[in-house]
Amino acid sequence: MKITDLKCAVIGDHPIVRIVTDDGISGYGEIEHYKPAWSPIVMMLKPALIGQDPTDVERVMRRIRARGGFKPWGAAVSAVEMALWDVAGKAAGVPVYKLLGGKVRDRVRTYDGSLRQPMTGQTPDDYAEAVRYMANLDEGFSIVKQAIAFHTTMIYDVPDFFVHTPEPKAFHGFPNRGLMTEKGFRHVVECAEAMKSALGDRVGLALDCGPGWVLPDAIRFAREVERLNLVWLEDMLTGDYTPFVNADVYRELTRSTSTPIHTGEQIYLRQNFKALIEGHAVNVIGPDPCDIGGIAELKWVAEYADLHGIMIAPHGTGNGLLGLAALVQVCATLPDNFIAFEYPSARTEWWSQIVEGLPEPIVGHGTIAVGDRPGMGVEFNIEQTLPYLREEDRDFFA
Ligand SMILES: [Mg+2]
Repeated sequence: MKITDLKCAVIGDHPIVRIVTDDGISGYGEIEHYKPAWSPIVMMLKPALIGQDPTDVERVMRRIRARGGFKPWGAAVSAVEMALWDVAGKAAGVPVYKLLGGKVRDRVRTYDGSLRQPMTGQTPDDYAEAVRYMANLDEGFSIVKQAIAFHTTMIYDVPDFFVHTPEPKAFHGFPNRGLMTEKGFRHVVECAEAMKSALGDRVGLALDCGPGWVLPDAIRFAREVERLNLVWLEDMLTGDYTPFVNADVYRELTRSTSTPIHTGEQIYLRQNFKALIEGHAVNVIGPDPCDIGGIAELKWVAEYADLHGIMIAPHGTGNGLLGLAALVQVCATLPDNFIAFEYPSARTEWWSQIVEGLPEPIVGHGTIAVGDRPGMGVEFNIEQTLPYLREEDRDFFA
């Protein structure tokens, strides 16, 4: 089998990659809705793909892996990787998890970081209300994640939150960092306490914190909330859109507290997880298959983390329904250090009409059934999708 074409259409805000082959099979991959302008970056990979056998996934990946980087620059390579697996699974007539070594579970746990209401404010009551909404959804999530501190508008809405004047939110990333005031610090603690008392011990609470904390505040906070038994504290020091890791500083934080410390959604490739994992610098890693370089890369990192006593909770909030399908395939194969992956919801309602193959409802008791359809297990309903194609993407399915 040979790749004859590579296409990319922006559907909604998601760039969708299509690998076209000479025997009629197509494979699809999806890029986060946060990256609607990514088509030209995908198309730069085309010359390296034409004529290659898509079922030799690793052989093809060796040709394009150098064209990625830390988030957002690994997205195009990652989407092509997932499209290659989709082709390989369909060609073999098996779900992708069979090609990754087979599933070790029939349902995979997912946590809620995407189904939420707009925040009503920045008080402890507002935070309690936000997580109460997530915990009461029909999906029955057993873990919910709430943004807090430098990952929110708290830095603007709570006067004198930290010692610097806040910069406006950057186009990508989190530009604010610095020592918190005692008042700001106390406010974050009170919001965490309010969320925990709203949830009780029925639903676990994870906090997405930054990046932006300085090390002494991070240590002080992680120790202060030990009594709340949080599932993890995410991205306190570096993280979302940070183009480096700082594993040695994370190690100091992690060694100082019993609260699990989490990072890694922005990290591209296994090599860049090496210092975090070998240094035992965090308790939980959170790679995103749409940024790390694909699902096989994520699987490899998960296995290596498990050898070192580190857990994994993959990121995925913006990945859309094809991204969801890919997360289900890979997470079905992960070792027991797997906690749950972040649920990517359909950003607009009509996505559930154009993508077929997911269970209905998708989530029950906080988990998703692993299906047995070939490839990634989902397919576009082309007829239904055509009206959503942009003018310049009219020939996407042709
Ligand atoms: Mg995050």
